Amino acid sequence: KVIQPERSFKYADLSVRLAGLEQLQPKPDVSALSFGKYFTDHMLKIFYHEALGGWQMPEITPFESLVLHPASKVLHYAIELFEGFKAYRGIDGKIRIFRPELNMERMNNSASRTGLPTFIGEELIKCCCRLISIDQEWVPHSIASSLYIRPTLIGIDPTLGVASSESALLYIILSPVGSYFKKKEQATGLSLLADPQYTRAWPGGCGNYKVGSNYGPTVYVQREATERGLQQVLWLYGEDNEVTEAGTMNIFMFCINDEGEKELITPPLSNRLILPGVTRNSILALAREWNQFKVSERKFCMSEVCQLLSENRLLELFGVGTACIISPISYIEFVGRPLHIPTMKQTNPVYKMFLKHLSDIQYGIIPDHPWAIPI
Ligand code: PMP
Repeated sequence: KVIQPERSFKYADLSVRLAGLEQLQPKPDVSALSFGKYFTDHMLKIFYHEALGGWQMPEITPFESLVLHPASKVLHYAIELFEGFKAYRGIDGKIRIFRPELNMERMNNSASRTGLPTFIGEELIKCCCRLISIDQEWVPHSIASSLYIRPTLIGIDPTLGVASSESALLYIILSPVGSYFKKKEQATGLSLLADPQYTRAWPGGCGNYKVGSNYGPTVYVQREATERGLQQVLWLYGEDNEVTEAGTMNIFMFCINDEGEKELITPPLSNRLILPGVTRNSILALAREWNQFKVSERKFCMSEVCQLLSENRLLELFGVGTACIISPISYIEFVGRPLHIPTMKQTNPVYKMFLKHLSDIQYGIIPDHPWAIPI
């Protein structure tokens, strides 16, 4: 749906209230960064009130707690959605954000599905760039770290009816982050629990939107994986154990297909079981541009994974997403069967090629790439 400019907030209306010196927080040591633990000194807020004509003026304020009515719809019915992308400090000192327009498109799609108001993505990107430039010293001076950007949109109507919210709050908070997985996990590859008892998404559901209600219920399954000594969950769907996602990552399989060709496969968006990831989209675009092997967006099931593995034709499995960029997978426990995936055993694995290329774009090592937008 096209969003009418007069129905959006505008960057031109942005006001800024800076934190006082006494409110500024010390910046954590880059080596101590764990995901989403520290936040910068400022935040962006934009209220929406139908009774006041819709979107109000955007404001940057000191980072502060929110005051919410206990009946706010977000607290009862999870009327909320969020996004995640990053700002990177390049080797030239410039700060860049990666393909933010795709996050804006996904955010508006989630808003539509949740009955929350939509907006012009470009206006939010401009407000966000201003916020980052105010807190720019928080963007780590390291190519192993970045500043995670978390836009959030919540329904704040103080009424208990299960209905769309006439008031909402869009806010952005920023968090300096190191790598998502621990060093050990990066060196050995991820281990996954694939248990057909659980599913995260189904046809006609909301798995293809980034809404909070998709994530809360996964914590229980994640804990089950942890208790069995595994790091993440491999999400399956349906009688035939279709492979959909790994943790909060899209998944790719690199193999030798029945025709003896190398093929990169990722589940399709068409059945709406997976989140349309920005990293997934970028890897598909790079792979098609490189044209070194067949690239397919198609369904694959655990039976195919097991068969390829038994015939030594499964080369790599990896998860991809903003937080981790790319994580090789080395082990899956599937209904009691241990599957050892040889991703870490390849001499020139494709996952490393993608990882290097993406991070070279993000940190400005490949200069002026159209996916890396200077703030
Ligand atoms: N799947 C899920 C369920 C996710 O939460 C994420 C993280 N946003 C992804 C995939 C990866 O998406 P992206 O590459 O846009 O970060």
